[in-house]
Amino acid sequence: MSLDSATPREFEAPEGALADRVILITGASDGIGRALAIECAKKGALVIAQGRRRKKLKALADDIEASGGIEPILVPMDFLKAEGGVYLSLAEQIEKDFGRLDGLVHCAGMLGEMTEIEDYDAAVWQQVMHVNVTSGFALTKVLLPLLKQSKGAIVFTSSSVGRKGRAFWGAYSVSKFAVEGLAQTLADELGKADVSVNVVNPGATHTNMRAQAYPAEDKNAIATPQAVLPPFMYFLCEADRSITGHSVNAQ
Ligand code: NDP
Repeated sequence: MSLDSATPREFEAPEGALADRVILITGASDGIGRALAIECAKKGALVIAQGRRRKKLKALADDIEASGGIEPILVPMDFLKAEGGVYLSLAEQIEKDFGRLDGLVHCAGMLGEMTEIEDYDAAVWQQVMHVNVTSGFALTKVLLPLLKQSKGAIVFTSSSVGRKGRAFWGAYSVSKFAVEGLAQTLADELGKADVSVNVVNPGATHTNMRAQAYPAEDKNAIATPQAVLPPFMYFLCEADRSITGHSVNAQ
């Protein structure tokens, strides 16, 4: 179904829009994923929050509870260390505890090196591809049965350099092209399964990753993580799952 590009950008989720929904967000311990976890909980969702470190996830849980949200489920998991069985165990646990999954948002990501391809470290290349693409594939694969049952929504996070390559962005840029391709392939496959698959490019956003890429930038001149949430919320809240296969900009 066609989509006016302003619709997701200007979306405001009504109170209770995600009541009774279970939503898994990767990269929820920081940046955009963290802001999204708080927003989803504010709108009534039970959030399953993945991040690398338990301490940062606990701080997120405190913030969610302080703002009146349901206590989130914390999933400390480093994708660089996780074996295949860990993803499956997580899916089985979600099935056992909640019997549903209404949303899966892939926010976790790593920047890697900012250098020419000629000088790019092969080990870092593999890490970036693993965290940004392969873990998203692995998690999506094991969670698809639950998402199909719940007629859920999958949202991937891309980047401008995932649509047009740019010098020095190396594996990060290539990984985001792969994310766009994964989402398109999945959207095509799931067209009749009532699971939507869409991509959001947040654009320049004030987070640790952005500061790593642009250390000298004026942080007040770019968007806050909260400001780029509307399209993520739109795809999670939209009941019409035939709105699928789109790649939109938050700014
Ligand atoms: P942050 O660096 O603030 O957050 C990244 C998240 O990913 C953190 O929760 C981090 O965990 C998690 N993470 C990193 N490495 C791993 C790993 N090995 N295993 C598991 N989790 C990991 O980044 P942003 O919020 O800026 O980025 C969110 C998404 O938005 C990313 O996909 C990014 O590519 C994309 N994006 C961001 C833009 C921006 O300007 N900020 C622009 C365009 C796209 P921990 O807290 O432990 O570090």
